[in-house]
Amino acid sequence: MLYDMSATTVELQAAHIDIAVLPIGAIEQHSVHLPLGTDWLGVRALARAVAERLARESSVYLLPALPFSLSQCHGAMPGTVWLKPETLANVLRDLVLSLHEQGIRHIAVINGHGGNFVLDDEIRELNLTIDDLVVIQGVSRDASDGPGPTGRVVGGDIHAGAGETATQLFLNVELVRPERVDYVPPVGREFLDYATMEQIAPSGVWGRPSEGTVEAGERALERAAANMARDLLRAFAEIEAIRRSSAP
Ligand SMILES: [Zn+2]
Repeated sequence: MLYDMSATTVELQAAHIDIAVLPIGAIEQHSVHLPLGTDWLGVRALARAVAERLARESSVYLLPALPFSLSQCHGAMPGTVWLKPETLANVLRDLVLSLHEQGIRHIAVINGHGGNFVLDDEIRELNLTIDDLVVIQGVSRDASDGPGPTGRVVGGDIHAGAGETATQLFLNVELVRPERVDYVPPVGREFLDYATMEQIAPSGVWGRPSEGTVEAGERALERAAANMARDLLRAFAEIEAIRRSSAP
């Protein structure tokens, strides 16, 4: 069964939740054609689709997507708001610990924004320091472009490109403006650690939004949700097995 913000506390208590799903979005510029809430809207839809699949075999609590995360690299572009890395780590920690205190031991964090690298560290810390807690991160397409050390990967569909445009065309076509600016910077994604998005790509796009289609958006969301739900269930089961076999 799937429980969300429409459930009551009594229903949640009776449900004995197996997995909580916590989506993390971002509010940041997405060039001339996509809304500021693109990452937040996208991860909300992805997390619901994942949670619906998980709920076929488990009792699942779907939380609302946290709108804010690490968007400082877009900071000067109007509408963008961001948390500091340590703030996001602390927010994640507080949310996970409040769920754990109610007896929820499996938490799936679904990250909808590519630059949230601090989540890895905090999730590792939570797993290593709290015995009966398993926190797993499912990573969305937005973050799966295969960045590498300087010079190894150039190009990609990093931001407001074909992938995100396709997803929003499928989810919220009325929010997608007709203009498109295609631009792929001649450097790798890691350059976002050295310069702002505005310096690297003044149009606010990194990719080819003109190639995004409704059909591609529908397919990508369906595939991402199915893969992520399957991977999460496998990972939870594997980790439980590893911990059981190593228990004294
Ligand atoms: Zn985005």
